[in-house]
Amino acid sequence: MTDMIFASKNGRNIPLEDKIFGISNRAKAMMAKEGKDKVVNATIGALLDDDGKVIVLSSVDEVFKSLTPDEYAQYAPIGGTPEFKEAVKKDVFRNFEPTRFVEAVATPGGTGAIRNTISNYSNYGDKVLTTDWFWAPYNTIAQEIGRTLATFELFNEKGGFNHHSFENKVNELLEVQDTLVIILNTPSHNPTGYALSQEEWEKVVEALNNTPKTKKVTLLVDAAYADFAGEENDSRLFFPILEKLEEHVLPVIGHSLSKSYTLYGLRGGAMLCMAKTKDVADEFKRVCEFSARASWSNCPRAVHVILSKIYADEELLGRVMAERKSHRDMLIRRGEAFMEAAKEVGLETVPFRSGFFMTIPCDNSEAVAAKLETEGIFTVPLAKGIRVSGASISEDVCRRLPAAIKKAMETV
Ligand code: PLP
Repeated sequence: MTDMIFASKNGRNIPLEDKIFGISNRAKAMMAKEGKDKVVNATIGALLDDDGKVIVLSSVDEVFKSLTPDEYAQYAPIGGTPEFKEAVKKDVFRNFEPTRFVEAVATPGGTGAIRNTISNYSNYGDKVLTTDWFWAPYNTIAQEIGRTLATFELFNEKGGFNHHSFENKVNELLEVQDTLVIILNTPSHNPTGYALSQEEWEKVVEALNNTPKTKKVTLLVDAAYADFAGEENDSRLFFPILEKLEEHVLPVIGHSLSKSYTLYGLRGGAMLCMAKTKDVADEFKRVCEFSARASWSNCPRAVHVILSKIYADEELLGRVMAERKSHRDMLIRRGEAFMEAAKEVGLETVPFRSGFFMTIPCDNSEAVAAKLETEGIFTVPLAKGIRVSGASISEDVCRRLPAAIKKAMETV
């Protein structure tokens, strides 16, 4: 049975429309009809100001506008320009100097890093492991390339990382698979805002080192929101811990320029390996560039030039970071306002540390979200709860929302 007319289904489950963009379109339609002040659109995964306009770092915008045709019109090399590769390593690691063999391959956004990691480090039919709360495109990407997603429980009963569930699932999958890709999105996890602590990272590394050395495990750290979790070097303190991984576990970092540089539409990103041997790093470059050629070919050159220029000019880099900090502080204030208000009205939330999203656990999320929509509040219902984007609503709205959500939960 297939619901396709002409297209081939190839085992994929293809919805009629992208869920989040569908909800957001309904929010926009209501805004046009009822007025902007009657609608809260808490679905958008981009940082908006209090008036609902996308925030653009003016320092980055300046560089963008200064580009010459020579800089943006030509093809970029498949793996990225040499200057970009150096700049992106600095951008990912900052003060940390890896002792491992690092290779960087350009990708169109962080999404490309996820796709290429799955396609090159798992086999057809494999299960790819991630947390039970996860960003839906992981599932889309896995399906598209003939894999499926398996999950473990992110939280234990105390609201910390559930090592027991993680280890059980890793070992269960490795009993039937020779390769395993694990995706951990931290810090500022989408959709919960969780971040693994140093201790939790140590235990994750220990568990992976204890897996059979005959297997190949790839740990993809999806660090798309690393610059939104507080001081930027603090968010990177887990890198030295990754260096303790044994040779049969390969750490790969998925990096996105979409949020950190407000370049969502320019599709900038990279994947970086921290390999224990040069051979594995060289192979990483070869296979990931092959996959890039086979899917999107080269990435937009403009974004490579922009990042290279920023890292070549200390004063400019300082301005970018200062601007980003002021927006990050705003985002942190919004998150805190939401959490405080949730506590005041007794609304249970999933443990939140920082980031674009907060989540409220509930069994009937579709019905609660539908009820909220009737009141002009647009959220994203997930399998296990409701996602609210603090990135797209003001601090004032963050303060008001928990009471409205609690009421909607009580009435459906
Ligand atoms: N990973 C997560 C968890 C995300 O939420 C996103 C964007 O929303 C990305 C990766 C990468 O996004 P992009 O491809 O736009 O850089």
